[in-house]
Amino acid sequence: MRAAAITDDRTLAEVDLPAGEPAAGEVRITVAYCGVCGSDLHMLGGSTPAGFVLGHEFSGTISAVGAGVEHWRVGDRVTALALSGCGACPTCRHGHSSACAEAAGRCPGVGRPGGLAEEVLVPADLLIALPDEVDDRAGALAEPLAVATRAVNLAGPLDPDTPALVMGAGPVGLLVAEVLRAHGVQQVRIVELREARRDIAARLGWTAVGPDSAEPLPPGRPPVAFDATGHPAGFARLQELLPIGARVVLVGVPFEPLTLNGLQMVLKEWTIRGSLGYSRSDMEEAVALLAAGRIRTDLLVTETVDLAGAGAAVTGLADPRSRNVKVLVRPGS
Ligand SMILES: [Zn+2]
Ligand SMILES: [Zn+2]
Repeated sequence: MRAAAITDDRTLAEVDLPAGEPAAGEVRITVAYCGVCGSDLHMLGGSTPAGFVLGHEFSGTISAVGAGVEHWRVGDRVTALALSGCGACPTCRHGHSSACAEAAGRCPGVGRPGGLAEEVLVPADLLIALPDEVDDRAGALAEPLAVATRAVNLAGPLDPDTPALVMGAGPVGLLVAEVLRAHGVQQVRIVELREARRDIAARLGWTAVGPDSAEPLPPGRPPVAFDATGHPAGFARLQELLPIGARVVLVGVPFEPLTLNGLQMVLKEWTIRGSLGYSRSDMEEAVALLAAGRIRTDLLVTETVDLAGAGAAVTGLADPRSRNVKVLVRPGS
């Protein structure tokens, strides 16, 4: 099969690899689409070994079923959890499955070969069925949408009058805004540095402003805010904008330390929490939102490339001039 693997000079190249047969408890999936993601860029720049196949946001059709796998058949359309714990340890039992010590290692594109390939082997307990209403392109967005769904679910009670502020108009920020709308929240403001991304947010119908905009949030209830930048400057600016009683969910992954204005947090009684990955129920909710047509995936997918274009798609995520939101790779094309 064809796949896009990490090279010694830290890009991706198309290679030929054996598709492999599913071991006991696994299935093999013919990948339809695989999204590229900021964490792919992070892994490419990190210590992930050359030869590894990235890709954790994929949709496809089961092409082979290993021994002992029940409930799944060849031809079933699926996506997969890309961060899912063992299910048995205290971390998992307390509802933090994504933070399980085993979560990364068992998941395709993170701890084992992923979906930037014509075929991918996946433990059957990670599979999520895609209903007919969710086509393969939308199905590849279920994983990042589950990240957004969890962040919104962890934000606490929401009602139509709760103002919402989203820092960052990348895929996760825009998907958070879409999930908020699906939850009935009517006042969502997005703050985004890049003009190109503000334009995309505007095309989706969102009010998107630059970080220096002085426009306050609408008065009324304390807002709920989401940092989808994972960037120290984004979090710093967010704190300047937050009024009394704000709730904040950090959903972007801050690889550098963030600075918290503790005095303002106390004086303004903010609640700040982190959100990592998703649970199975968050992913099932994400697929249900897609099936109900509540998420405008057509506008979020800005480019589709073949495996030969996967490397440029990943490195392009770091280009501030890029006009892309979500790029999908179509390994079979
Ligand atoms: Zn991702
Ligand atoms: Zn666990």
